[in-house]
Amino acid sequence: DVLPSPAGTSSALEVLHRVFGYESFRGRQQEVVDAVVAGGDAVVLMPTGAGKSLCYQVPALVRRGVGLVVSPLIALMHDQVDALRAVGVRAEFLNSTQSPDERAEVERALLAGDVDLVYIAPERLSGGSVRSLLDRVAAGPGISVFAIDEAHCVSQWGHDFRPDYLALADLVGRWQGVPTMALTATATEATHRELTARLHLEGATHVVASFDRPNIQYRIVPKDDPKQQLLKLIREEHRGDAGIVYALSRNSVEQTATWLAEHGVDAIPYHAGLDPRIRAANQSRFLRDDGVVVVATIAFGMGIDKPDVRFVAHIDVPKSVEGYYQETGRAGRDGLPSTAWLAYGLQDVVQQRRFIDQSVGDAAHKRKQSANLDAMLALCETVGCRRRMLLAYFGQPTDQDCGNCDTCLNPVETWDGLVPAQKLLSTIVRLQRERNQRFGAGQIVDILRGKRTPRVEQHRHDELSVFGIGADLSDRAWRSVLRQLIAQEVAQVADDYGTLGLGPLGPAVLKGEHPVRLRHDLERSSSGAGSKRA
Ligand code: ADP
Ligand code: ZN
Repeated sequence: DVLPSPAGTSSALEVLHRVFGYESFRGRQQEVVDAVVAGGDAVVLMPTGAGKSLCYQVPALVRRGVGLVVSPLIALMHDQVDALRAVGVRAEFLNSTQSPDERAEVERALLAGDVDLVYIAPERLSGGSVRSLLDRVAAGPGISVFAIDEAHCVSQWGHDFRPDYLALADLVGRWQGVPTMALTATATEATHRELTARLHLEGATHVVASFDRPNIQYRIVPKDDPKQQLLKLIREEHRGDAGIVYALSRNSVEQTATWLAEHGVDAIPYHAGLDPRIRAANQSRFLRDDGVVVVATIAFGMGIDKPDVRFVAHIDVPKSVEGYYQETGRAGRDGLPSTAWLAYGLQDVVQQRRFIDQSVGDAAHKRKQSANLDAMLALCETVGCRRRMLLAYFGQPTDQDCGNCDTCLNPVETWDGLVPAQKLLSTIVRLQRERNQRFGAGQIVDILRGKRTPRVEQHRHDELSVFGIGADLSDRAWRSVLRQLIAQEVAQVADDYGTLGLGPLGPAVLKGEHPVRLRHDLERSSSGAGSKRA
């Protein structure tokens, strides 16, 4: 037992040094720890990597009794328990993977006061037997703290609702004098309000840490040839570094991992379709070895605690800013300079809109998904500081540009896109009014550029008055214009075939009543280069 002093007598700082081997508390950890050690409740909103675990682990060791930690992720629970045992903390868990014998042993240890921290899956707590066990523990050896991790899971409107979390509310205040903590990396004010109300934590100390991750450099580049762009990023800036590459589909994960490996990168795939043994082996190789790049679907990363991930790259646009921020937050937990890089293209918008259209769910749900995507696209297309936009999104606006994102480092030139926008919209409108037809991006751009392709001739689109009115711009330029018009809601993807229509602002733009500012997409950053596909 590494805790020689009787429980309740060591100070928080002493536990931090002796058990965890850290110099000092980081950020706002101390505020939280002090409040809870003194017996108060706490609501803790801190970004991924800020060190939420210590906020409950330290009070659990300082106060008398066992600390209860509710955690929804079984894999994460195992990792945490292993890590705590490695430093001599008596940690256990209670979840559905245990045999009755194992569970009985944990119960015995709990009642004997031989446990410092116990991790519990939320579904365990909805049943009466674990509740009465905990009542006996509270009456006996005592409960030091009741910590609810990933507390945003109580929010029914959030992106990660778990019904079992609703039942946790009954447990808040059940054991006299036991402080309750709710912790999450989700920062929107709505979530904060909702979890506070549901868990009855109005009287708690609320610590909302800064969501800024100053060591992460945010970069979003137009997508050209994502594999080549990614390879360039790795070769020129992150050779030999550990990194995570996120892709949307399993197929693209496999292809990208293989391709990178063929080009000398130590890359391995990770997605839910892999054999569980291979998946576990790949994950542990990423955690253990230096300089491994894991190419993954978003299934990867929840609870991955690797401090020296130097870059997180997205080769497809994420579905929401929350998701993007959580994924990029896995870079640079050690505080050293790291890169969050995203390649984003027209095809992404079309594809994501299609996913939303085809998704099951009611209209309200689709509207929410659509709003999430719009916020993400606006981040991609902004000409302002990316970090400012992110912080404003999370309710922490600042009036300073960060100086360390792509738009700060290379201010984006903009141009007046009104005339090209009108040409494009007129083409859409002509096809609808004169031919009762809708087409996707490819055909619209061919008409604008005046290309006599077989498809143009077949539909006699060369007879339209708009045929060739856009010959002054390249294919690539038109795709860039279109992508931005969709993000700005001037145009929109009208159905799940990817055909185009006017967006809410389309009519005003056609009448010249709404200005259109567009980014120059010509490659500015080194790893934005590439030339092939439009
Ligand atoms: P979160 O749960 O907020 O995402 P973690 O609790 O997993 O973050 O902590 C992230 C990393 O930071 C871990 O490797 C942890 O050991 C480290 N860490 C946390 N607090 C401190 C501290 N005060 N000093 C040094 N390292 C810390
Ligand atoms: Zn900036």
